Amino acid sequence: MDLVVRGGTVVTAGSVQVADIGVENGMIAQVGGPMTAATEIDATGRFVLPGGVDGHVHLTPAGTGPHSWRWIDDFPAGTAAALAGGITTVGNMCHPGSGESVADAIARDVALGSATSRCDFFLHPVLMNPVPEEIDALESLVRNGHPSVKIFLSFRRFDHNVEGYLEAMRRVGAAGGLALLHCEDVAVMECCCGMLRAEGRTDARHFPEARPVAAERSATERAVTMGEVTGCPVYVVHLSSAEALDRCRAGQARGVAVHVETRPIYLFLTRERFDEQDGAKYAGAPPLRDPADVDALWAAIRQGTVATVATDHAPWALADKLDPSLDATSLRLGMAELETMLPMLWWAGVRTGRMSMSRFVEVTSTNPAKLFGLYPRKGTIAVGADADLVIWDDTATRRIDGSTMHSLAGWSPYDGWEVTGWPRTVITRGEIAVADGRVRNDAGWGRLAARTATEAL
Ligand SMILES: [Zn+2]
Repeated sequence: MDLVVRGGTVVTAGSVQVADIGVENGMIAQVGGPMTAATEIDATGRFVLPGGVDGHVHLTPAGTGPHSWRWIDDFPAGTAAALAGGITTVGNMCHPGSGESVADAIARDVALGSATSRCDFFLHPVLMNPVPEEIDALESLVRNGHPSVKIFLSFRRFDHNVEGYLEAMRRVGAAGGLALLHCEDVAVMECCCGMLRAEGRTDARHFPEARPVAAERSATERAVTMGEVTGCPVYVVHLSSAEALDRCRAGQARGVAVHVETRPIYLFLTRERFDEQDGAKYAGAPPLRDPADVDALWAAIRQGTVATVATDHAPWALADKLDPSLDATSLRLGMAELETMLPMLWWAGVRTGRMSMSRFVEVTSTNPAKLFGLYPRKGTIAVGADADLVIWDDTATRRIDGSTMHSLAGWSPYDGWEVTGWPRTVITRGEIAVADGRVRNDAGWGRLAARTATEAL
């Protein structure tokens, strides 16, 4: 073997066992049994997990897209944060610039990611313009290694092109792909924003009223219906509320392929944050909700209604978030999550008994790998899989401090939180990517991950 990880407790979605792991040519060649290697890593007393697969990030090339999408992290910064936090594969949203075709945008980001990503990556083409040529191009992308499309129900152009989006979903589903749907009803939100302006209630603390649960519930119901009638499996991104969750559960109960993602802010923060002086920094879409929503999401992770937890990593410098020219109807959305998501989920989920270690692996690695067509190369520890491994230290306690982390944002919504359970060593395709807190993979180390059709869970 090139490398043996010795004596760790190996956790997969299906099992927990003490075993040595042998790595050859970047892949797992043996699990358990006698083996020797030139390089050995002692994992005694640690857990060994498959590397995290975060299917929802926004790492942006500078200067593309409208300003509201110009998040601060590029591939080198974002993937350094990912690796430091135990995430070894990222799925980036590929937004075409104005007038750019979906195929050109994918070609651009394949080249950019290959040149600058520190870990393996894949791309979700964002369908901005569902005209016949773009739908044809999208179907071809789905059949050729990009089996997922992102559609925003939260953009005005959605309501003007519903038939085109339905046709796109029909074709994507037939080609073996998955539709990622941002579920907030644009007309409902515009109505709410208009009323807030008319009433002079545009201070940032009114942000939850600008994008209410009603907008999410309505769009989620529509998304489930769109999946039902087109036959395209649906993946609801960043679900935040119990009411929207109920709509998904009802769809699942009648056999619709509805998969639900949530993200850390909805598991750790509630809407009172917007009453704070710098509450604007917590703005994401949808907004933070109530404690009952938080409880419903944790329960749904355990019960299976929620399939994945992803970051939606979309950070800004703090000054940009707190820009005084913005109001409740125009706040900048998103924050840095890649370095903290797995430790926080482990700390608040596994260590408290809210979820098992195997369920943790399932929602952060195995399920996204299956849904995005990466499994079993990614998402598990088994012979033939890529040797993407995280040696996890269940006893390490660290105080979160965004100013010392890898995102260019320089702050974290969880600054000051003390969290127990962090990656100790991270291995990507058999090479040590993180050791002693230092990210070793150069920009450009990562490759476009090979993908096949979406796999049912
Ligand atoms: Zn997103």
